Amino acid sequence: MALILGIDVGGTNLRLGVVECSDVHSQKKSVRVLEEMRFQADFSALCKSNADSPALAWQTILTTIAAAIDTVRKKYPQLAGVGIGFPGFIDPRTQTISQSPNLPGLSNVDLSADLGALIGLPVITENDALAAAFGEFVMAAKPIDNLIYLGLGTGVGGGLILNRRPFQGQHGVAMEVGHIITTPNGRLCGCGNHGCMEQYASASGVTISYQSAAGEHCSAAEIAARANAGDTHAVAAYALAATSLAQALAHILKVIDVTEIVLGGGMSAAWPLMQQAFQRQLDKDLIPAQRGKVNVHLSAMGDQAGIVGAAMLAQQ
Ligand SMILES: [Zn+2]
Repeated sequence: MALILGIDVGGTNLRLGVVECSDVHSQKKSVRVLEEMRFQADFSALCKSNADSPALAWQTILTTIAAAIDTVRKKYPQLAGVGIGFPGFIDPRTQTISQSPNLPGLSNVDLSADLGALIGLPVITENDALAAAFGEFVMAAKPIDNLIYLGLGTGVGGGLILNRRPFQGQHGVAMEVGHIITTPNGRLCGCGNHGCMEQYASASGVTISYQSAAGEHCSAAEIAARANAGDTHAVAAYALAATSLAQALAHILKVIDVTEIVLGGGMSAAWPLMQQAFQRQLDKDLIPAQRGKVNVHLSAMGDQAGIVGAAMLAQQ
């Protein structure tokens, strides 16, 4: 069985997992995460502070990831390859990262080639949410053909498995669901538009909602704690997040009639605060034929979905 390194590149940290896996399509597929490591790496702040010199930011990103991989390889020298989930639009034909809304300045960079040259191992790069979707698909308790993954984190990512295959779209922009506009003329988004869903339904969106109502800057986790303690502004911030997420999902489901939806990402821990407003809005917006037939559930894999998915894509 192959030993593959799966990496999930987040806004503020890098997570690496050594994954032992058999062929994903084999009858007796076997996937095991042998070890996980986490490294602090605030690539979002790095890109913002190097807005004038994106090439320098890119070199720092490459050497940071390479150093993390070196640490793992000292213990697992038999690693056969690396799969990376990266927060950006990945062109499926060239593997080039055309843009990353949360890592401004990066444009048409080739992580697979640049990192592969540094570390001397084959590297594949996929959108982080699509990698997580693939991880959820591979590890699903019962066989499924279609699945939508929504990752609620610093932004909101989406991944689609269609007919048992990851669906990237022509330019790797398929399922950029966080940029579905749910509030016309709303908050300015990193993508350049206004009123994108992730400006409301992400952790940063919840922080903005709470700050504009309560006048205080808090993390999404702190706002969740306040909501649970009865803070009405905090409750409203999560209700707005849930409503915006459901609006966007209803749009998606009218285009792609999928019934299995998996929610992941750090903010999904606050799902009990969102569930009621989410379901109300989804039932309101869906076509009647779809109502009651959509299974929305929380990821059972948590943080591991992206790592396992990226490794399995590399294994393929
Ligand atoms: Zn946007």
